[in-house]
Amino acid sequence: MPELPEVETVLRGIAPRMIGRRLVEVEARRPDLRRPLPAGFVQRLTGRAVIAADRRAKYLRLHLEGGETLIVHLGMSGRLVIEDAPPPVAFHHGPSTAVADAPHTHVVFRLDDGTRILFADPRRFGLMDIAATDDLDAHDLFAHLGPEPLGNGFSGPYLARVFEGRRAPVKALLLDQRVVVGVGNIYASESLFEAGIHPARSAGTLSADDCDRLAAAVRATLDRAITAGGSTLRDFVGASGELGYFQHSFRVYDRAGAPCSREGCGGTIERAVQSNRATYFCSRCQA
Ligand SMILES: [Zn+2]
Repeated sequence: MPELPEVETVLRGIAPRMIGRRLVEVEARRPDLRRPLPAGFVQRLTGRAVIAADRRAKYLRLHLEGGETLIVHLGMSGRLVIEDAPPPVAFHHGPSTAVADAPHTHVVFRLDDGTRILFADPRRFGLMDIAATDDLDAHDLFAHLGPEPLGNGFSGPYLARVFEGRRAPVKALLLDQRVVVGVGNIYASESLFEAGIHPARSAGTLSADDCDRLAAAVRATLDRAITAGGSTLRDFVGASGELGYFQHSFRVYDRAGAPCSREGCGGTIERAVQSNRATYFCSRCQA
């Protein structure tokens, strides 16, 4: 499942290729992904230029001329593949040099420079929708969302306000999209480790200082992953044009039994299950 850094990396990969380009051909090979494609999907997109692109939570948003926005969610297994235009060939009758479509390609956008952007999603938990750009904040996908973790609305004082009086485990609240968006299971575990806070601790018991450390750790953890993704992205584009997933090195996630990497700690990473999600932590340096 791509988390926020992966989605941000995909955005940074496709934005320069799509902004300023026109969608000259849109092909929907099936009527639905996780939910049906919106009515008039092909007609509403074909011929439109992409004028801007951004991300909200784990949704990619391509803002089009004419006042509509294409919303894309990668779901569990979705990928966007950039396929460069085939080189011009004259007097040539050999096999096509175009890259074969990725398997499970459901939607294909051809741009006015010949590039194709392929959306492939084997498990089809992805989603595409089209909505009025001016009303996106009120859209049912976005209306309930909390602040972006890398935005100005997310800070220690903000967490302190939200956590006040809450008995729920701090990790559960970090995963709550109404509290902050896009911090999934991996980065919640990593951030709590970095801040030295036990994932099962009641959120209401965090001090102002704890909240400051935690907000900073969330930002730092995501920033590092995005930076790592950026370097991976260059390799991916160079190799296959495929954007979407890469391996990070984690300090606690999926490292049960490994020695704690915090200098001088000497503890061992443990695994526990909280609200049906695996949680990784060091009980010696996280309190
Ligand atoms: Zn430790």
